[in-house]
Amino acid sequence: MNPAAYAILNLEAVQHNLQIARHYSPNAKIMAVIKANGYGHGLLRIASALQTVDGFAVARVDEGIRLRTAGVTTRIALLEGFTCAEELDNLINYQLDAVVHSFRQVEIFEQRDEQAQIAIWLKMDTGMNRLGFKAHEFKAVYERLQCCSIIRQPINLMTHLANADDQQDQMTIQQIDLFKQTIASLEQMAGRECSIANSAGILAWKASLNDWVRPGIMLYGISPFAESTGAQLDLKPIMSLHSRLIAVKSLEIGDKVGYSGTWVCTKPTRLGVVAIGYGDGYPRYAKSGTPVLVNGQRVSLIGRVSMDMITVDLELQPHAKPGDPVTLWGDGLAVEEIALCAETIPYTLVCGITQRVQIVEAMKTSLN
Ligand SMILES: *Cc1c(COP(=O)(O)O)cnc(C)c1O
Repeated sequence: MNPAAYAILNLEAVQHNLQIARHYSPNAKIMAVIKANGYGHGLLRIASALQTVDGFAVARVDEGIRLRTAGVTTRIALLEGFTCAEELDNLINYQLDAVVHSFRQVEIFEQRDEQAQIAIWLKMDTGMNRLGFKAHEFKAVYERLQCCSIIRQPINLMTHLANADDQQDQMTIQQIDLFKQTIASLEQMAGRECSIANSAGILAWKASLNDWVRPGIMLYGISPFAESTGAQLDLKPIMSLHSRLIAVKSLEIGDKVGYSGTWVCTKPTRLGVVAIGYGDGYPRYAKSGTPVLVNGQRVSLIGRVSMDMITVDLELQPHAKPGDPVTLWGDGLAVEEIALCAETIPYTLVCGITQRVQIVEAMKTSLN
């Protein structure tokens, strides 16, 4: 019997999704973003499925070390850089590229004069107001870093788009323009490379394409846009999440379902109990009416999501019985749709799969 809650990962889809990213950005190198445990799909698993990319990006030092320790030799950028001298030592030892975004980091560099060198991505804050130097500070910082012997020259440059998932929002063009204007005022350096685009940039903003692109969510087959699914963009989802029915019962008018009795029967109801809940990463805030597949057919979630279980209305599945298969997303039910029903984004759903969800890698097959 299948485990109570399990995720099937179709790793062949990774290569397909990578091809789509390459199709949109044919002249760019690809830095595949595999932070947060490969968006919940497994850091090393995704890295090994993506061996043909030009580089990887992760958020934290320990993620970079895990990749190196597992034998990954490709370029790896740390999107949050380092916060202290000891972390910088790790970056040097494991040959991880640092994103440089703070004056504290610049000061740490200026105190060092060893032989070993580190490649960096100097980050400009073009409006997201998260990490990076403001455009007016950028040239002075760049010139200070050009004088640091520990930094491998030339210095690479990057910024991050805040609203690229909204295809109407002109902020994206303003961010791109500010980045390009500011770097045009820097001394020209042979071999210097720049990077702007995340998945939404790659798919919707041609002006954001340059030497490197940084696709994340699209590599997992998921759309960065609220108004479309990955399938509509010709992406193939990697993850599907599954469980099974463990109980079926009949309820009368007036019966209440689940914690706080938020769902009340207005007609005789066949109720199914599914062995998955927020303890597995199914979203606690999924509303009544969120679609769930039972035996491949859509039924509706009813009542509150519990830690280990959810309840569904089996009106459309009169013959469903304990043991029958249930799909929470993937395979005929887009994770993007579930995200809308839970007022979140699909990123949080795939990242939020918990330890007790058993991971099953789909059998590699040469058929279809
Ligand atoms: C997470 C992240 C990305 C990837 O974003 P997606 O929307 O998943 O494509 C790219 N760049 C930076 C700096 C990031 O933090």
